[in-house]
Amino acid sequence: METRRPLIVDVKRDSREDGPGIRSVVFFKGCPLRCVFCHNPEAQQSGPEVAFAEEHCIGCGACKKACPRMAIDLNRASRIDRTKCDYCGRCTDACRGGALRMIGTYWPVEELVLLLLRDASFYRHSGGGVTLSGGECTMFPDYVRSLLQRLKAHGIHTALETSGYFDYEVFARKILPYLDLVLFDLKIIDREESLRYLGRSNESILNNLRRLLAQDTVEVRPRVPIIPDITDTRDNFSAVVNYLCEAAAREISLVPYNPLGAAMYTRLGRAIPDVPSGFMKPEREEQTFKMFREIIERKRGQRRQTEEAELPGVQTPLTPKTEENHL
Ligand code: SF4
Ligand code: SF4
Repeated sequence: METRRPLIVDVKRDSREDGPGIRSVVFFKGCPLRCVFCHNPEAQQSGPEVAFAEEHCIGCGACKKACPRMAIDLNRASRIDRTKCDYCGRCTDACRGGALRMIGTYWPVEELVLLLLRDASFYRHSGGGVTLSGGECTMFPDYVRSLLQRLKAHGIHTALETSGYFDYEVFARKILPYLDLVLFDLKIIDREESLRYLGRSNESILNNLRRLLAQDTVEVRPRVPIIPDITDTRDNFSAVVNYLCEAAAREISLVPYNPLGAAMYTRLGRAIPDVPSGFMKPEREEQTFKMFREIIERKRGQRRQTEEAELPGVQTPLTPKTEENHL
């Protein structure tokens, strides 16, 4: 059994971007990667955290009075000395301005299922369901299995968003049997770049995607998040297309760049990473899609000129698709 209880960052209702139909998305707290461009920094650490939004602070000082560890300094920009804080939550309870928020709540599985079932009729009528996301929800295989089992017992379509960094044997045994769809983020093919930008080698990510694409019981959709000058280089896109062709993938989606995590870094008292702070201009985005399509077309051309035997595993053409971002 898992020794850690998973914390949930948020449950988002009425999503149209995390799988088919209308969906609820459960964001787990905790991730083994440290992507420099992460736009959900509150979902990286598996423990609880306190976020401080200065713009909502009314300066009442109730938080300072409530804190038993003298961790709060009203004159400090980041407000909380996180080396003293034990996440007791007294300040967040006391804050009337809504400036302090505890991030990470434990939900017993049964209670979470009841919450998710509130929208069961929307799932049914739209062809939607529930998507587990994060963070990296596969860090909690026993909890996730228990949750998915119950959702399947209610006839709910289940999807899972993953960075691909997990133990395949555990995933295949405990989680895969209860899934209808895996949304797999393939970010970087080069190993050194992976170490630099994801904080880990991508060896297991690439192996896991290959194994998932080789099984035929659960649909797997690879996606490449566009991160300017990191994932959207010609070299990386070419390597992605080559890799997916060899792994016999049927399609690939590009996910537009999402810069919205920057404010949360500040609220958590962390430095904002050195990545673009705004959305991509439409022209640049279109250029990126165009380059990706050209790479796929070139690959198709090579395939036509080459004996099938020299390109094992290429069974179906890749189709670039765009989709709205919610990672
Ligand atoms: S969570 Fe508790 S220890 Fe941390 S700053 Fe708030 S009151 Fe103080
Ligand atoms: S309790 Fe909330 S609103 Fe009051 S000073 Fe503290 S952070 Fe600001």
